[in-house]
Amino acid sequence: MNLALLFDEDLTGEGEARLTGRRLAHLRTVLGADVGDRVPVGRVNGDLGSADVVRLTDEYADLRFTLDQPPPAPLPLTLVLAMPRPKMFRRVLQTCAALGVKDLWLIHSLKVEKSYWQTPWLSENHLRENLTLGLEQAKDTLMPTVHVRKRFKPFVEDELPALTAGRRALVAHPGTDTPCPTYVNGPTLLCIGPEGGFIAYEVDKLVEAGCEPVHLGRRILRVETAVPVLVGRLFDACAPVY
Ligand code: SAH
Repeated sequence: MNLALLFDEDLTGEGEARLTGRRLAHLRTVLGADVGDRVPVGRVNGDLGSADVVRLTDEYADLRFTLDQPPPAPLPLTLVLAMPRPKMFRRVLQTCAALGVKDLWLIHSLKVEKSYWQTPWLSENHLRENLTLGLEQAKDTLMPTVHVRKRFKPFVEDELPALTAGRRALVAHPGTDTPCPTYVNGPTLLCIGPEGGFIAYEVDKLVEAGCEPVHLGRRILRVETAVPVLVGRLFDACAPVY
């Protein structure tokens, strides 16, 4: 937690917040914060700043904060991800949030097991919790939007063409002819497949909707590795704008 993200329910007054639970534990045990210490904070979907710890008990920490810095710019990326298996899903969510992905679409595909959609990690609370962990890691405040589409065909036929319009649209697919471009740095849509990959029919449908198949070389990467490799290749995180 490089930042404590403050939500409406944490606010106790003008410029005042109370931390409990995970963030309190982190403050006390990892950061070793004490009364009088200053810690980095951010307001969800707002600015970054710092807070003085004014009271600290076993149950809560009271903070007085000021916010004076904008968060980093969002990536101009729409990420379309075949629903990963539950164990990987949490980590992928955190990674996406830490990398600056703000628009995430979780879609079905033949190699996505139906049971993956039953995971409790898809509940609103768990989504928020894992996205928060990623934002706090990266010192960002802008909460990503997650869209869930449990049917492949209606999504690619009815919604995807509008999402690819006016953007560079790519589908990462091993074994295709075109290497993934580098530093696109503009509006982009990227599709990443499930552990078993997209089947040929699905790639054809994604191409019909405006996506260009691209590869990352001969090594087949796990989804959790492919996401940061692709984002790192398409967007220059050191550029002043990001
Ligand atoms: N078994 C599948 C690979 C699945 S890897 C196959 O051989 O096709 C999971 C997803 O990560 C892929 O669908 C793709 O979107 C992405 N990916 C992993 N390695 C890649 C590579 N070398 N080139 C392009 N995409 C890759």
